[in-house]
Amino acid sequence: MPFVTRFAPSPTGFLHRGHAFSALTAWRAAKAAGGRFLLRIEDTDFTRCRPEYEAAILEDLAWLGLDWERPVRRQSEHLADYQAALDTLRDLGVLYRCFRTRKDLLALAGGAPHADDPVDTRAFTGGPIAPDEEEERLSRGEAFAWRLSLAAARDRLGDLKALTWVEQGTDTPGLKVAVPERLGDMVLGRKDIGAGYVIASVVDDALQGVTHVIRGEDLVETTSIQRVLQALLGLPTPVYCHHRLLLDARGKRFAKRDRSETLAAIRASGLSAEALIAELEG
Ligand code: GLU
Repeated sequence: MPFVTRFAPSPTGFLHRGHAFSALTAWRAAKAAGGRFLLRIEDTDFTRCRPEYEAAILEDLAWLGLDWERPVRRQSEHLADYQAALDTLRDLGVLYRCFRTRKDLLALAGGAPHADDPVDTRAFTGGPIAPDEEEERLSRGEAFAWRLSLAAARDRLGDLKALTWVEQGTDTPGLKVAVPERLGDMVLGRKDIGAGYVIASVVDDALQGVTHVIRGEDLVETTSIQRVLQALLGLPTPVYCHHRLLLDARGKRFAKRDRSETLAAIRASGLSAEALIAELEG
């Protein structure tokens, strides 16, 4: 059976130890299975992605000793593929325009977010609005997001609990049931920036023949949504491995915004890749 896995970072910041662990985990799994390891640059959000971050990703991974197939797929060069998937979903009647801003959603969710405990606003989108109001807002040129309607998805697919995936290589392997309700009606695209990574990633995993998605457990809820998208778009479901997340000395997840902890800074400090790998995998 073929084994194809990938590391799919978004160049919205420098990679940190957590990314190194994730890339290494996927790369080692590919080597162990005699399979293929792909690198994919998920740069559809041109408001946040920067070329210097992409350059640093390539340097960091090479420094770690990883190798990957060429050419590297850069999502910004394939936007039509993701737009086509959005169009298909819209034609199926499972997307709706949401005009609520993040501020509106926060107010509805009950207050300002705390940095460590952001309010999850996704359950407060209010669903589709009346056609005449929508018409009026569109004519005023108001910004909107395309959200996946779970209710409409349920109408098409039936009980979403029938959607499952196989989890491997984690502490809790087995058949997992999708619970997309946790994230609610998720944003898949925006009027200003087009398709987001949730749909682009699922389209590319299918297009690139990815058989094993190996990524951090912070994305397990996204997997539920992506499982719904696979069912709606008729795409295959890969095996998933949601590996544990590395924590920093304070027990917090590494974050791209913490510059001192980036792989670029670690490289510059003179630590060897071998020493870092030993620390990550120790
Ligand atoms: N591009 C996503 C990120 O950097 C990861 C998507 C994935 O691995 O499926 O968070």
